[in-house]
Amino acid sequence: MKSYLAMKKTKLFILLPLLIYSLVSCKEKNKTQETTDKVQLDQKKDGYLKRIDQLNIDFFKNHNEIEKVVLSKLENEGSEYFIENKCYDILARFESTLELYCQICEKLNIDNTGGLLTSYLHLNDTANVKKQYELMKDDENAFIYKEFHKYRDAGKTLESKYISIKYDERVEAFANAVFTHVNDIESFIIQEWDGLLPPKIRVILIYSDGPGPYNPSLNETFLPVKSTPISNSFQVAGSIVHETFHLVNLNLLEQKCKFEMDNDMNSFKFLDEGSAQLIESKFMNKFKENRAEVDEYSKSLVLDNTFDFNGLKTSWFELFSNPDVHIYSLAYSFAYFLEEKYGEEKYKALFLPTTKITEDSWIAYVENYFGLSIDELIEEWKQKRIE
Ligand SMILES: [Zn+2]
Repeated sequence: MKSYLAMKKTKLFILLPLLIYSLVSCKEKNKTQETTDKVQLDQKKDGYLKRIDQLNIDFFKNHNEIEKVVLSKLENEGSEYFIENKCYDILARFESTLELYCQICEKLNIDNTGGLLTSYLHLNDTANVKKQYELMKDDENAFIYKEFHKYRDAGKTLESKYISIKYDERVEAFANAVFTHVNDIESFIIQEWDGLLPPKIRVILIYSDGPGPYNPSLNETFLPVKSTPISNSFQVAGSIVHETFHLVNLNLLEQKCKFEMDNDMNSFKFLDEGSAQLIESKFMNKFKENRAEVDEYSKSLVLDNTFDFNGLKTSWFELFSNPDVHIYSLAYSFAYFLEEKYGEEKYKALFLPTTKITEDSWIAYVENYFGLSIDELIEEWKQKRIE
């Protein structure tokens, strides 16, 4: 598994990298094999793998059942089974098997830049967090984890039906302040995504500053809040709503698409991040003021005429580290534009499809859905900004 982490320009926004489902390694087929071998391989798949494949189609809904099946397989056949069948990634998805997952990664010497580190952090194993950080030090994203081994778990978890918050003992007051918003968060996410929610949305509040990475296996976001004033706790609540949107839409799109939802899909991130901010602003009742702000910013860039807007579709990740452009603001403004043009219901349903998506790619799906190419939509959005 690759590592999934990201930076953003303001620390309270988090880029949620795409979730890649843990069973990928079980499904992986050796590309050099002949078709007949593949058929034999499929036939050889035992009942466990077939069952997990089936249940994984809706991981959120079947979460508890999958955990039971995994635990029973472990009890009967031990961890060797998971290693031999290359399907141990699923062990990273449950607290009950997380330690074992780390042991297997160590044993197999898996290069896990970030993924293993965040698993260790969840286990409060800061010695191994530090070791992982040392190992990945040359990675361009390593700086994000620089302070993580200094985490001092408070030993308490703030827990509601859907949300679970762990925190550093030095930010206890902040954690409690965030938790005062939990009922608001839950009523909002239930109203938006009833029946589609993950079993647990996990958050760890860290005593540091900087961007927040994400562990997709556990649905866990790391929020550095050292210098965030307590009066901003509602913004963190907004971030939780934002992340939940990502979790929900990706789980659903994975089920409905023929194509793979890929971590490097620029055009997806462009639309996805815009929409996540839009939903966040609705939760925070900041719809109008935020819109005015990001539309104004987009307008200034259109008038400036030096930025290639189509790059948002093709080079999102490249633009990500460009300090001169606020791509999140642009994505945000574009999301407002789409919602206004197509109406709230239609826009929302783009990310929450109820039937199978027949197109072969994300772009084809979006363009058929709106009846215009993304380039045409971008052009129209730009024109609107300077009207
Ligand atoms: Zn995001």
